[in-house]
Amino acid sequence: MKTYNIAVIAGDGIGPEVIDEGIKVLKKVAELDGGFAFDFTYFPWGCEYYTQTGRMMAEDGIEQLKKFDAIYLGAVGFPGVPDHISLWDLLLIIRKSFDQYVNIRPVTLLDGAHCPLQNVERKDIDMLFIRENTEGEYSGAGDWLFKGQEHEVVLQNGVFSRKGTERIIRYAFETAKKQGRSLTSISKANALNYSMVFWDQVFEEVSADYPEVKTASYLVDAAAMLMITDPKRFEVVVTSNLFGDILTDVGAAIAGGIGLAAGANINPEGTFPSMFEPVHGSAPDIAGRGIGNPLATIWSASQMLDHFGYEAYGKKVVDAIEQLLVEDEVLTPDMKGSASTSEVGDRIADIIGNLQ
Ligand code: ATP
Ligand code: MG
Repeated sequence: MKTYNIAVIAGDGIGPEVIDEGIKVLKKVAELDGGFAFDFTYFPWGCEYYTQTGRMMAEDGIEQLKKFDAIYLGAVGFPGVPDHISLWDLLLIIRKSFDQYVNIRPVTLLDGAHCPLQNVERKDIDMLFIRENTEGEYSGAGDWLFKGQEHEVVLQNGVFSRKGTERIIRYAFETAKKQGRSLTSISKANALNYSMVFWDQVFEEVSADYPEVKTASYLVDAAAMLMITDPKRFEVVVTSNLFGDILTDVGAAIAGGIGLAAGANINPEGTFPSMFEPVHGSAPDIAGRGIGNPLATIWSASQMLDHFGYEAYGKKVVDAIEQLLVEDEVLTPDMKGSASTSEVGDRIADIIGNLQ
């Protein structure tokens, strides 16, 4: 029997609470199939570890994680630890060290999910965001000159390598081709006169290899507006690290809220483990009360199943989330329900067991 070894970094705040429910669902799927299993190894890394050791993860953390089939992450970050430390010294290091250059975020409005837009049919919002995940505006390159002086100057560079830009765009074209859907590129070449001119040029070049994929291209500001006014024009979307970060929060807002937004950090070559995590943070304001919404974390478990080639089970998990939303009975307070985190996980596992 195939066993997938999963490194679990439950992290801070509601991270451990929601990750338990994702694990519950993964175990349920494996049990239903009977042909594969998951083995979970827990790593106590995050902000508490930082306050004790001065590090977000063990010094040889990347070495330790390397041998796993995937990483399942709850959330990191907590008041008292500067955000740029919790982000850089754990999440971004993992993404970069394991060359997880594809960030996949589904923006799909399921039946029963709340949508603040009027005159929108469910099927109008069904996008797949493919965000560059290792360089761009989040490359960490920059400088702080004359710090503290009157004439201080701060530089934050966007880094767009030929290799990095081409591979994310190619991955997006492959995905659009496989799914038989259009591909939209989002950039900003009028204002970012080096990086985004280059991005558009690479998009144009790669598109020549995919004549069957219908393409469109928008400036990021126009795209932000169109996601609200005419979301159905977007199917598969490819964009840079910063733009993808911002636009997928817009996506979360129109597709059921942050409690439903899932993400996968993929190393497509499989040289290193990929990482699956909800888009939301540690939600310190509700931590420890057992009321965090686990649906985003459960949805990212479905992305893990897809990644391992069990797409039928991945779909089943999303179908179960949809059924739960339609039933409108077992939901956490952020979705106007009164259920606990674990009641939602239990109900999802039940539904999966009953789905054909
Ligand atoms: P980060 O800096 O890690 O992104 P943040 O504080 O900016 O964290 P979140 O932790 O995502 O953002 O929380 C933003 C708000 O959304 C909080 O008020 C939180 O309670 C709410 N929230 C986020 N995730 C969930 C969830 N899974 N269930 C319920 N509420 C949530
Ligand atoms: Mg945040």
